[in-house]
Amino acid sequence: MYPDIDLHIAGAWTPGSGGQTLPVLNPATGDALGRLAVATTDDLDRALAAAERGFAAWRTVSAFDRAKIMRRAAETLREGVEDIARIMTLEQGKPLAEARIETLAAADVIDWFAEEGKRAYGRVIPSRLPQVQQVVLRQPVGVVAAFTPWNFPINQAVRKISAALCTGCSVILKGPEDTPASCAALVRAFLDAGVPGDVLSLVFGDPAAISSYLIPHPVVAKISFTGSTAVGKELAALAGRHMKRVTMELGGHAPALVFDDADVERAVEVLAANKFRNAGQVCVAPTRFLVQDRVFAAFRDRFVERARGIVVGDGLAPETTMGPLIHGRRLEAMEALCADAVALGAGVATGGGRIGNRGHFFAPTVLTEVPREARIMNEEPFGPVALIQRFSDDEEAFAEANRLPYGLAAYAYTRSAARAAQVAARVESGMIGINHHGISLPETPFGGMKDSGYGSEGGSEALDGYLATKFVTQSS
Ligand code: NAD
Repeated sequence: MYPDIDLHIAGAWTPGSGGQTLPVLNPATGDALGRLAVATTDDLDRALAAAERGFAAWRTVSAFDRAKIMRRAAETLREGVEDIARIMTLEQGKPLAEARIETLAAADVIDWFAEEGKRAYGRVIPSRLPQVQQVVLRQPVGVVAAFTPWNFPINQAVRKISAALCTGCSVILKGPEDTPASCAALVRAFLDAGVPGDVLSLVFGDPAAISSYLIPHPVVAKISFTGSTAVGKELAALAGRHMKRVTMELGGHAPALVFDDADVERAVEVLAANKFRNAGQVCVAPTRFLVQDRVFAAFRDRFVERARGIVVGDGLAPETTMGPLIHGRRLEAMEALCADAVALGAGVATGGGRIGNRGHFFAPTVLTEVPREARIMNEEPFGPVALIQRFSDDEEAFAEANRLPYGLAAYAYTRSAARAAQVAARVESGMIGINHHGISLPETPFGGMKDSGYGSEGGSEALDGYLATKFVTQSS
């Protein structure tokens, strides 16, 4: 049912050389599912040597041929979707339907990058002299060390692997220890499709020990990390000390502005679905719902009704629409953040606590009129808690939307073109969804500003992080 997970190094699946393993737990039950191999420094050294060899070979494969291999990996995911989704639900907790969507969406990401790699064009710049030719070459940066989290075990990894592979880079992926099997299934799909074993390594272990070894290592040219802002800042600082290229996809605290001319029904429908998807453990989840006076009560009441309609349970059960949180730490974080908000005067419209005492289930929660000094108004909750706040005039909403150092995603609902234009121009956010939620497609840029990081994980912009620019001027 659930496989034990080895490391993938230099073309072979292998237990860690130290023989150490970690348990993998089912967040719906707390029961052990299997065991996970832990990488030692020797293992990392072998992965680094493989990645160096892999890069030398892979960069010479044409983008056209790399694409053929990548597209086979996409097909493998599509064919294996049922088995992979089941494994993902077991280890991550999300409902099976969400796990299927994630797996199939990953196949689309691979297809898109496979094609876009063929378009990593350089430039010819008109020269000042007839005998001079000036060209800009774009070449793969080299070995990429990628670090991905547990909330989307496949999708966080597939964006990094695909961007690296399509541009000719090799990858050492430090996958998520909480959810290793679905991430390993992704790596296996690439390898089975024909990605050479040296080009893609997968390691697990102590995240801090692995990142502090790989990032400064001279073989590694580029770092890509998805996770919390606090860890991202540490890793970016380390990368900076060693002059390494970096893509950082970090935390968020997305504002959702609902103006008084909005289609409230549609706003509730889309925002509630995206608040509670993956039990709120989504970096772009809407969190601060800023609702204008005239529609505040209607929005709040409909939203609460939606939250109460969510069926919380084991993701494998067909009726479940929201699974558990990933681990006990998240559960404790939710409890502490809600308790702090309530102590400061927030209203609890629904939920507010843990469900049962087996597994990590937390009720879909709506807090209203939360004081600005409450921790949850300032820290990323990363859980199923919506904060519904009231505003009177547009300026107030813009000020609140931009108040935090985060700037990943923002949403707005309005029928006014002028207001929509104001939102687009003024809200400090890497991605903005107006009257819908389509911010995360393979072909569109995905990334933040401010403390939410830099670089993009989607669209043609994503390739920039994996390509070095080389200017060549030649006189005949
Ligand atoms: P955590 O900070 O322990 O871990 C978050 C992720 O960062 C994990 O994947 C972990 O392996 C990795 N990590 C932690 N320290 C690291 C290091 N020194 N080097 C390399 N990787 C490291 O927190 P957690 O309890 O597992 O998750 C909670 C927080 O993490 C959330 O509040 C959220 O902000 C953040 N998070 C963000 C995303 C995202 O999509 N941006 C995904 C998962 C978690």
